[in-house]
Amino acid sequence: MKKLILLSICGLLGCSAASLSAGDNGVCLSAENTLRDFYAAINNQHCDIAGKLRQGYDKKQCQHIKNATVISVQPQTCTAGQATFLLEVKFQKTNNRTSHFYGTVALANTDQQGWLITGFQSGNTSLASPTSPLMAACWTSAELSGNKQEKAIHKTAADHSPPAYDAPNAPAPTSIGALSHSIRSVAVPADKKILAITFDLCEQANEKTGYDAEIINLLRASHVKATLFTGGKWMRSHPDRTQQLMADPLFELGNHAWTHGNLRVIRGEELQQQIRWTQVQYEQLRDGLLASACAAPFKAQAAQSIPPLPSVFRFPYGTCSPEALAAVSGQGLAPVQWDVVSGDPAKSQSAEAIVRTIISQAKPGSIIVAHANGRGWNTAKALPKVIDGLRKQGYEFVKVSELLQMGDPVTASSCYEVKPNDNVKYDKLFGKGTE
Ligand SMILES: [Zn+2]
Repeated sequence: MKKLILLSICGLLGCSAASLSAGDNGVCLSAENTLRDFYAAINNQHCDIAGKLRQGYDKKQCQHIKNATVISVQPQTCTAGQATFLLEVKFQKTNNRTSHFYGTVALANTDQQGWLITGFQSGNTSLASPTSPLMAACWTSAELSGNKQEKAIHKTAADHSPPAYDAPNAPAPTSIGALSHSIRSVAVPADKKILAITFDLCEQANEKTGYDAEIINLLRASHVKATLFTGGKWMRSHPDRTQQLMADPLFELGNHAWTHGNLRVIRGEELQQQIRWTQVQYEQLRDGLLASACAAPFKAQAAQSIPPLPSVFRFPYGTCSPEALAAVSGQGLAPVQWDVVSGDPAKSQSAEAIVRTIISQAKPGSIIVAHANGRGWNTAKALPKVIDGLRKQGYEFVKVSELLQMGDPVTASSCYEVKPNDNVKYDKLFGKGTE
């Protein structure tokens, strides 16, 4: 959530931005004025004022600058809640050295105090832009953008604790109905060039896996729809990220079991919990998002657009049993596998190999599997070429649930990676898979 320090600078610099509506050019101008006021304050050595315009600004920085020259300010995104600019500034320091900033600056608008600078990112890549008013109201671009460190995976003590409550309050989804088979792809007319790219966010009990900001930012920047199969425990350990992904109309969240259980081995109530607790965790975070102050103006719309519960499920390790298939469809979920395997959890799978595999195997109705939890080693590097290559062939990316509406599922009676029984080895390797 956006955490802004509210400052009493309204009288000093004006609060006109707060009254402007989204998309108004005046919003851009008003935010830009704050940015220019910040550098003017530095040039006049009004370091206290500069400190009030930039969150967390170290006034010593200001004191060491003799002159700041704004060379260019280009608006990137401007909404009522946030604005980003591509910015170039040259500095002359008090020690007569010079420095140079070129990159993106993000500003957030507070209700009463107007615009504040919330972050700088050097380089010419833009910060991730919010794709809905709800996102713009709840997070700054810098908060949405994240950083590469979040991709790291950490070993932890085993955590098998349940979510806050045992069963979802919302009724089970009924999007596809009972299915005793797994879905490999969707039969759409050959000339209908649509497919679904999916990313798994797996997390076992004894680890905290990552958030691959680069992948998500690329999907947002390229406006690619995707289905993200999130583990229940992953959602619990990444609540902000989960809520951001939920709030983003580009994405749908699917269920990827509570602690990544091997559902060919796990049975009975434990099997049911792996599925059900993940639904609960999603519901709890969705409720939290809808109840948050930033979401209040968009609550009715968000309640409509963010599904109450996931309607698609992905088996960890791609393994299932007839009992597991029944348990998944019994909780209203469609068991979604894939027909194109990116191979990205293997470190040896290069970006070039990922691109080649996906581009050569994708066909209308395909479901592509990749990872966005830190285990997609070269996925982010491959993604621009994958997106570009498929779009050049005329493909449009849709969410899995949308793909399922466009044709009959192509199913298999068991669950496998590329051909039947090819993942039986995981039973020995991972056992129940939850540790
Ligand atoms: Zn997984």
